[in-house]
Amino acid sequence: MSKSPCYPEPLAISEGCELWHCADCNSFHIRLGETSLHLSHERFSALASTLRDGIQGLNALYGEREVVEHLRRGIHH
Ligand SMILES: [Zn+2]
Repeated sequence: MSKSPCYPEPLAISEGCELWHCADCNSFHIRLGETSLHLSHERFSALASTLRDGIQGLNALYGEREVVEHLRRGIHH
C-alpha cells in the first residue's frame, strides 16, 4: 500500500451535522443530513469565513438574541 488511509477525527458533532478533520491530508469532512462534503483546507476556510460573515449579517439585521432563536427553530420567512 503506497497511500496512507484517512484517519479523520471528529471536531464537532451535532444532530444531523458532523465536522471531521483529517490531519493526514489536511482536509475536512462535513456530513450534513444526506449530504457529505470533502473539503480542502482552503475550501473549508472559505466556508467557515462565509458562515461567520453570514451569522454576523444576521446579527446586524436582527440582533444577537433573536438570531440564536432563529437558528434554534430554523429560519422561516
Ligand atoms: Zn486524509
